[in-house]
Amino acid sequence: WRQTEYRRMTPMAYSYDDQNIFAKILRGEIPNDTVLETEHSLAFRDIRPQAPLHILVIPKGAYVTFDHFAQNASDAEIADYVRTVGKVCEMEGVEADGWRLISNAGENAVQEVPHLHVHILGGRALGRMLE
Ligand code: C5P
Repeated sequence: WRQTEYRRMTPMAYSYDDQNIFAKILRGEIPNDTVLETEHSLAFRDIRPQAPLHILVIPKGAYVTFDHFAQNASDAEIADYVRTVGKVCEMEGVEADGWRLISNAGENAVQEVPHLHVHILGGRALGRMLE
């Protein structure tokens, strides 16, 4: 029953604000430090890095959160997005020392920008995530 209720609520819960800062980046209205661009995704360096390596990966489509994306994006968009994360990891060589993938969604997670992004963090010891 949980799954049914969740699916029913999702379309109402997410409405996309096309004035958010990542939408402006995707439209070329605000500059960004691009690491990799693909057909459906963009990876760029975070302007306030929390670690020596701090890259954000966003889909080009209008998705607010990871769950919004996972439930509504095409297989091509999802494959492109996951592969882009993988390519960035390969380019930055994170596998040697380890790294972290985070996606904040909504109020409880204090999501700042309402366009799906995953944070790729690395280059230092990141500590335990949940203390
Ligand atoms: O997950 P959350 O929404 O809190 O993260 C948003 C991230 O977007 C922050 O790490 C912030 O530094 C980054 N940001 C950015 N470029 C902007 C605006 C925000 O890299 N122009």
